[in-house]
Amino acid sequence: MRLRIGILSLGCPRNLIDSESILSRLFRKGYKITDIDKAQVALVNTCAFIKEAKQESIDVILDLIDLKKEGKLQKIIVYGCLPERYKAKLAKELPEIDAFLGRISPDKDTERFSLTPAHYAYLKICEGCINLCSFCIIPKIKGRLVSLSVEAILNKVKEFDKKGISELNIIGQDITGFGLDLGSGVNLVYILKEILKNIKHIGWIRLLYLNPERIGEDLLKLIRNEDRICKYIDLPIQHINNRILKLMHRKSSRSEIVRLIDRVRKIIPGVALRTSIIVGFPGETEREFNELLGFIRDVKFERLGAFKYSREEGTPAYNFSGQVPEKIKSDRFNQIMSCQQEISKQVNSGFIGKELKILIDECAEGSYLGRAQFDAPEVDGLAYVRSKIKLMPGDFVNLKVTDTLEYDLVGEVQNESIK
Ligand code: SF4
Repeated sequence: MRLRIGILSLGCPRNLIDSESILSRLFRKGYKITDIDKAQVALVNTCAFIKEAKQESIDVILDLIDLKKEGKLQKIIVYGCLPERYKAKLAKELPEIDAFLGRISPDKDTERFSLTPAHYAYLKICEGCINLCSFCIIPKIKGRLVSLSVEAILNKVKEFDKKGISELNIIGQDITGFGLDLGSGVNLVYILKEILKNIKHIGWIRLLYLNPERIGEDLLKLIRNEDRICKYIDLPIQHINNRILKLMHRKSSRSEIVRLIDRVRKIIPGVALRTSIIVGFPGETEREFNELLGFIRDVKFERLGAFKYSREEGTPAYNFSGQVPEKIKSDRFNQIMSCQQEISKQVNSGFIGKELKILIDECAEGSYLGRAQFDAPEVDGLAYVRSKIKLMPGDFVNLKVTDTLEYDLVGEVQNESIK
């Protein structure tokens, strides 16, 4: 009788896809895939790009070791970014772990054991990165950019479309780099057009992780002109002060970022801009931080994620002088987050009385949870949906917004499912 296997997939959606590939291979070998609390073998796909993520991975591993000591688990296998960085050290310090396996080779094998709800999926079109930001360990873990072949991508898309998913989230470390290693003419715009030609059911295509350097007008116009592409641009700027951007080895300057944001908002009216920033980068002065805070206040990104700089050995910034004390990093982080909370409240309140297309994610006792096109799964806001008609996850509905919270919307379904 084959063992029962359960997986905990930590970190980003890119890791989730790797976890789905691992499970699919084991499932085809006849292993029974089950929830972690019923498993005999526990797999953990770890994240290790910043301190907090490493700590979460370690905490999860230690919890599983306790379960093993209680005889509730037979084996524990640790995958992914943490062993990719610290295999030898981990093996010495955690002898209870049966195997440490690094990162998973890019997903050539299209079979995946889905770990997302059935109505949305992630598609990783490339792995690795060539941008080499000075604070980032990912290129060391994931290597240089490797794009999936056009054929493999379209096979996957057709499979998802046949399954009737409603939302396809396209990811990579930097999807604007897609195709740079595949030869001329193949790039993000090309593959999006090919994907659009090959789908009938998928209602939303969402683009995640676009690097500001390679966002061209052709991409923006395609997003504007194609209803099925969410008017949602996820472009991490990391900072806005030129001296800090240079130290981060980011190739866009303040004025270039400002011009890009203007161009995006001009070409795609009503677009939701999401960004990620880092506070407390080595040498960041109070004045430079205030420049960033002022910029966030002025630009009013619809969605924003902030990180405290994490000093990662193996990155150039690890050895930079002027490492900022944790207390100051936390103060700056809190200032940014409370500023963004106000902005998000303002942005959301602008939708009261308006009708929005909402994708239903969950049904709970007659009320529903969903998302608008400017809310990515797991990271952004939600819509609390009241409906007289019975709805299912994956349904698209027209929602009249009756109230808003800092990050979320509340509303009433207007008419029959519009799928
Ligand atoms: S673009 Fe992103 S993944 Fe690539 S090096 Fe920079 S921060 Fe890391």
